[in-house]
Amino acid sequence: MTAAHDPLPPLGALEPARLDWRREADGGEAPHSTVFDDVYFSRHDGRAETEHVFIDTNRLPARFAAWRETRPFVIGETGTGTGLNLLCAWACFDAHAPEAARLHLVSTEKYPLSRADLTRSLSAWPDLAESARRLIAQWPEPVAGVHRLWLDPRVTLDLHLGDSTDCLRLLDGRVDAWFLDGFAPSRNPEMWQPELFEAMAARSRPGATLATFTCAGVVKRGLAAAGFAWRKVPGTGRKREILAGEIADPPGDPRREGTPWFSPPSPRPAQRVAVIGAGLAGASVAAALARRGLEVTLLDRAAPGAGGSGNAQGGLYVKLAADTNLQSRFYLAGLLHSRRWLETLDPGQTLWRASGVLQLALGDREHARQARFLDNHRLPTSVVRGVSATEASRLAGVPIARGGLDYLLAGWARPEMLCERLAATSGVSVRQGEAERLAPSEDGWRVTLADGEQLLADQVVIATAALADRFDQTASLPLQPVRGQVSRLVLPEGVPTLHRVICATGYVSPALDGVLTFGATFGPNDTDTGVCEADHGANLAELERTLPAYVAALRAAGADLDPARMDGRAAVRAASPDKTPYAGPVPDADAWQADYAALSRDATRVPETPGRHHTGLWISAAHGSRGLASAPLCAEVIASRICDEPMPLAQPLVDHLHPGRRLIRDLIRTQ
Ligand code: SAM
Repeated sequence: MTAAHDPLPPLGALEPARLDWRREADGGEAPHSTVFDDVYFSRHDGRAETEHVFIDTNRLPARFAAWRETRPFVIGETGTGTGLNLLCAWACFDAHAPEAARLHLVSTEKYPLSRADLTRSLSAWPDLAESARRLIAQWPEPVAGVHRLWLDPRVTLDLHLGDSTDCLRLLDGRVDAWFLDGFAPSRNPEMWQPELFEAMAARSRPGATLATFTCAGVVKRGLAAAGFAWRKVPGTGRKREILAGEIADPPGDPRREGTPWFSPPSPRPAQRVAVIGAGLAGASVAAALARRGLEVTLLDRAAPGAGGSGNAQGGLYVKLAADTNLQSRFYLAGLLHSRRWLETLDPGQTLWRASGVLQLALGDREHARQARFLDNHRLPTSVVRGVSATEASRLAGVPIARGGLDYLLAGWARPEMLCERLAATSGVSVRQGEAERLAPSEDGWRVTLADGEQLLADQVVIATAALADRFDQTASLPLQPVRGQVSRLVLPEGVPTLHRVICATGYVSPALDGVLTFGATFGPNDTDTGVCEADHGANLAELERTLPAYVAALRAAGADLDPARMDGRAAVRAASPDKTPYAGPVPDADAWQADYAALSRDATRVPETPGRHHTGLWISAAHGSRGLASAPLCAEVIASRICDEPMPLAQPLVDHLHPGRRLIRDLIRTQ
């Protein structure tokens, strides 16, 4: 685990919204906060208020109609509440924006509604039923952090759960129009602080507009101090006057102070992107880019899912540190993201299964570690909870001697088929070929293949696991190959059915088509992909250590447990020294050595030079054996950056994934 400084708010469950339902004159009901003693909206004039205050005051119909940028139009909101404003903005976008335009919504919420309250609230608006259904279906668990939802092929919503000021300070992205909502300043003074307006200003595009329902002095003063010009405009319904505002010249972005090397490269137009490697990392980047309208060539020396992602079945699971760190935050975000991503990609669960994962504590040390993890995090039990041996046995459907952690949202997937499905995304063309060399060309990259052919692309993403360091530009990236072998056993009749993925040191998945998959071995620096008997033996021993009663049942039912006759598959995965994936722009290692040489003499002397990168070159690699949890989110990180969109993770987590982090660490270490 990495010891990188963790500046984020505590990781855990958020306090839920507390509501009651107020009868209104028309006999309907409207949600009301019992904590703030204020309404979320009024049924009588709530829609008119949203349309007037937030949509029209930001001039959205005209701005949407005129939107010709390839990047999405970005709306930022404080206080998601019931999502009514967001759904109205989406409807306005659908009504006015040209076909090729995209909308990106960023909304912060400290006290998220439960799914039941959200459903009840939004039932007030039958004409929004379909968009409400999609929002509710993807509504995240109340876990602090960023949750990306795909409302529509053209509309993305990032829910930033936490305090508005904290979330906006951590936002890696810029906004075109602000919905400054939240309960009235008199009822919710903590939110309407100068720091909030400063964070908004720092995350604004030049010319960003804002609208808010309140004309309170604290808001006017705060906005002005942060650089927003405001004016009163006529309100509607209960509000006689409201505020409109604009920021012509927002302050520069102070976020990378102290870590200038992580400053992202300036956005650069891209139409054609080559993705090298069609495992989960590459195929998910390819699909993410194609969904945004780019032409993608997905290059693989064999075929989609032929390497480390080629197993028929793999676990969607994470192992989180007892004490919060950036890596654990990333993996938890990745797990929650992958779950939502899989549900959107394949609602019928033909490529995955929401089986849940039990992480057993076989020894006392692991038991104590898990107890500490639960104590430190207080995550919703719908995400992870401690279970006894009895409960674990009931959930798994087989006798289990020790308890552990139950991850309800985890499960298993069919990585090979997943790669094939992603590679078949419209806009992705698969091409067989082995990339050998990369060279910058006039306005992009030239990829030279082993057969001598050349391919031109505006930008390139390298996603070739342990081979990702074969190019001149990536040669200094520390990557370790790790051989892994899984074993496969045809189940005889009469064996109890396993319902959950079970992890301890190894893992075993519920049987798929009558075949049990378990493993995997861990062979650092071993690149042999031949299947070997010794590894089957090791996998069997591990399975027996984890589930002795189940293995006894297998024997009793006549399963052939002889390693010499066992079926399996071996592949090479890649790991970074700190076990966090690399996802982001490829640093120009020579430039970094020169620009940051001072760090090797004195780590406190941080030069101001922003990181220099190989323009238009990206990498997603080092996913180890947890690619199902990490690769899809890393794909969003890369696609969002290429397309100049808000990032799907808080900025320190984006930086935590940066492929240049080890260069800096090594420079500091030579001190
Ligand atoms: N925009 C919402 C809609 O369309 O339904 C209505 C917003 S409601 C009036 C105000 C919201 O602000 C509530 O959901 C409340 O929980 C949230 N809120 C209050 N204080 C907050 C804070 N400090 N940070 C983030 N959200 C906050």
